[in-house]
Amino acid sequence: MIDFELSADIARSRDMIHMLAESAMRPISREYDEHEHDKPMEFFDMMWNASKMSPVSIGGDGKAAKKDGPATRSLGAAVTIEELSWGDAGLYLSIPNPGLGGAAVMAAGTPEQKERFLARFKEGAPKWGAMAITEPSCGSDSAAITTTAVRDGDQWVLNGTKIFCTSGYMAVEKSEGFVVVWATVDKSAGRGGIKAFVVDHHTSGMTVTGLEKKMGIRASDTATIVFEDCRIPLNNLLGTAEVKKTTEGFKGVMATFDSTRPIVAASALGIGRAALDYTREALAKEGVAIRYGAPAHTLTTIERDFMDMEANLQAARLLTWRACWMMDQGMQNNLEASMCKAKAGLAVTQVTQKAVELLGPIGYSRKILLEKWMRDAKINDIFEGTQQINLLIIARRILGYSSKELS
Ligand SMILES: Cc1cc2nc3c(=O)[nH]c(=O)nc-3n(C[C@H](O)[C@H](O)[C@H](O)COP(=O)(O)OP(=O)(O)OC[C@H]3O[C@@H](n4cnc5c(N)ncnc54)[C@H](O)[C@@H]3O)c2cc1C
Repeated sequence: MIDFELSADIARSRDMIHMLAESAMRPISREYDEHEHDKPMEFFDMMWNASKMSPVSIGGDGKAAKKDGPATRSLGAAVTIEELSWGDAGLYLSIPNPGLGGAAVMAAGTPEQKERFLARFKEGAPKWGAMAITEPSCGSDSAAITTTAVRDGDQWVLNGTKIFCTSGYMAVEKSEGFVVVWATVDKSAGRGGIKAFVVDHHTSGMTVTGLEKKMGIRASDTATIVFEDCRIPLNNLLGTAEVKKTTEGFKGVMATFDSTRPIVAASALGIGRAALDYTREALAKEGVAIRYGAPAHTLTTIERDFMDMEANLQAARLLTWRACWMMDQGMQNNLEASMCKAKAGLAVTQVTQKAVELLGPIGYSRKILLEKWMRDAKINDIFEGTQQINLLIIARRILGYSSKELS
């Protein structure tokens, strides 16, 4: 039987988080958009304390699975993230939690590593996790990374530069967090030589050298991190150190994207819904109601546009929930993760742009948040695999080509 109903637990949690997004995020949304590198410390403390009580984790630390049941962890996270991003996507991304680094540990770490690296997110002061893949010379082609990890006795020594690392500053310098760094242990092995390493906060040889100034999600920090003879324990490598001739090892680290792409898609849905909700209310105030069920030939252009926007977003939501549901069932969701990310990333840019258009000059004004949501939207079409890269992955999966055969 196909069931699209959310469980009572998830629905209750969604309503609670929606209230939080409305009361704690919206009021500070503009302030932290205007002041890019300021930090809303009170908000962080509140979210940190709330996350310890929440049945649904944001970054995925595995604990929620025990309480909420293994069949809803990803779906619950997607619903949570849609609500938080409805509040403010930049603030959501800046919340102290394991983040993408946590997702990588969950995807590629051993049970012992999950406990060692993720237990800290349930105690003490707020902490952040981050994931560093992108380099000055590569992003989409993650197999081309040049950061190296060389074994020296009982340590790995990392050298290289990572850019555009979300929450990198908070994870490295401002908390007892960590960064998951992708590096090659053997360049001649190509993809097979790429491994993920956990580098703890304040490790000597790891330095944040810059923060981006961005178009959108300005409440979220995006750091450049340099690794210079940065030494970490051997058992901070996620998974196995063995370099196989096949791409097996690389597939392990790539599996991170199967959980993070639906998360990005969920965030896109939240921004899109914020724009839709605002536009619906603004149109209603002007006496323009959307007449659902009216004969198609009687619909105005505005009504058609609005219904298109809603349908676009709902299609993206169904793909996102499906990718999450598959993950929760332990099914391979690589294709669906890329599908939902590609669809939601595009849908949110179209929906927010149309919303600005529909409201005319006020949509373009900084008096309201619509123009901000349009700026925030675009990142969902860029990070965790661009629109083009996700379409490429979808084509490969459907046609049965390898990355060598179709690139
Ligand atoms: C705000 C922000 C936060 C980020 N956070 C993180 C983070 O936390 N961790 C991290 O590691 N990275 C992060 N990134 C980096 C992001 O993931 C990369 O920017 C993205 O993967 C694209 O890589 P690139 O910048 O090297 O672009 P390129 O790979 O140079 O791509 C440029 C353009 O070419 C297109 N293109 C590339 N290859 C192909 C192809 N084969 N076929 C068709 N088109 C192609 C791309 O789609 C894109 O449109 C972040 C980026 C931003 C802007």
